Amino acid sequence: MAPIIKPIINPATNLPHATTVVIIGGGIVGLTAALTLAERNVPVVVLEKGRIAGEQSSRNLGWIRKTNRLSDDVPLALASDKLWAEMSKRVGADVGYSQSGILFIGRTPAEIAGYESWHNSTQSLNLDSRMVTAKQIDQLVPNGRGKWAGGIYTASDGRAEPTLASSAIANAAIAKGAVIIENCAVRTLATKGGRVSGVITEQGEILCQEVLLAGGIWSRRFLGNLGVNLPTLPTICSVLKTKPMDIKFAPSVGAPDFSFRKHRDGGYIISQRGKLDAPLTIDHLLLGLKFLPALKGQHKFLKIGLGKYFWDDLRLARKWKEDSVSPFEKVRAMNPLSNEVLTGNALDNLRASWSGFEHAEIETQWAGVIDITPDSNPVIDRIDKIPGLTIATGFSGHGFGTSPAAGQLAADMVMQSDTPLIDPTPYRFSRF
Ligand SMILES: Cc1cc2nc3c(=O)[nH]c(=O)nc-3n(C[C@H](O)[C@H](O)[C@H](O)COP(=O)(O)OP(=O)(O)OC[C@H]3O[C@@H](n4cnc5c(N)ncnc54)[C@H](O)[C@@H]3O)c2cc1C
Repeated sequence: MAPIIKPIINPATNLPHATTVVIIGGGIVGLTAALTLAERNVPVVVLEKGRIAGEQSSRNLGWIRKTNRLSDDVPLALASDKLWAEMSKRVGADVGYSQSGILFIGRTPAEIAGYESWHNSTQSLNLDSRMVTAKQIDQLVPNGRGKWAGGIYTASDGRAEPTLASSAIANAAIAKGAVIIENCAVRTLATKGGRVSGVITEQGEILCQEVLLAGGIWSRRFLGNLGVNLPTLPTICSVLKTKPMDIKFAPSVGAPDFSFRKHRDGGYIISQRGKLDAPLTIDHLLLGLKFLPALKGQHKFLKIGLGKYFWDDLRLARKWKEDSVSPFEKVRAMNPLSNEVLTGNALDNLRASWSGFEHAEIETQWAGVIDITPDSNPVIDRIDKIPGLTIATGFSGHGFGTSPAAGQLAADMVMQSDTPLIDPTPYRFSRF
């Protein structure tokens, strides 16, 4: 069952006639952008086709990490660390953030060499990441019985609770003047004189000066209808949560074939790190070559298959008119089946590696669709072809951690700030 999101207080029901900025998508990126804009007294309306955070932003593992990121993505993660640290105070509600450390471990010299190579490549960034021995792994997370060759540990990495964070951020944005409307899909953009003049929703039109598209996996389809080719493909990550347990490991741990992190209720969120499902779609044929380097590299563990997802995706339109029902109204929340073979293997591997987990009882399982780009970095950029449109999307399975800074950077781009939060160069659209 998908995680339960705390309902937002005072969601709007009536579509405003006009605003300054419309944000398409009430995931954590759209919501942090809305909070930033509302704090700057910019009128903003968030339109979400289902419930806020109903897709990736409530289903993720809650890891907040710099470790193993592309080095040009680390400045965004560092800026996010600062914002996460003050987020509960900023929004006046607990987002479950703690700087509890993240430990990646390996069994083979090749795995350790991979971590070492990342460590060496980020020396100039002055991170607190350090290579660790098997003995140090045991000190950090005692009672292990796996045979580890070593690993890498970053004490300043952390975690937050996805189901708390999005609603807390949404409520704070509303309190500061943002309007958030759920169950309201945006079908397309309205344009006048070659630039954005509004959005056409299933409930009517809103006039606006700027639009931010933060639509997660749907951004490619939305832009495709406008003749803009955003290269993202779906992968499915399956997750299980245990009932509360009497184990108190602080750091989150990523091993080659399982990962775990403590949930604030005492349970553990567990996932398979070695494999992700990659459902085939028509987009694989259209984009396959662009993704070859990624598929050979960081996504080499994909289990590619043709199944229900392929047929569901095939049935959804790729072109539609503003007065016809759009794909976004047909799927209020993408809810793929959890692959219980993968999660079961992950739990078995964890049980074999750490004592205490033998008696772990599964409370619930779910899955989420991740939007990956060819280089695993998101796009946060203005779209030259459509003046007035900015996109923040394609977070490739690690956008929860960077969302506070990504949302702020997106807000900076929307407002064409001369002093964006960080240099946005790694996120430009033209790199594809
Ligand atoms: C199982 C899983 C585990 C993960 N683990 C981690 C992790 O540990 N750490 C980490 O940093 N990241 C993790 N991620 C990735 C992270 O969750 C995402 O990168 C992040 O949530 C992306 O946020 P978003 O706002 O861009 O997208 P989403 O959360 O997908 O939000 C996009 C929203 O836009 C809405 N929308 C789309 N089109 C329209 C439209 N036309 N009209 C109206 N609404 C629309 C959708 O309904 C959706 O709610 C994980 C993801 C998954 C699925």
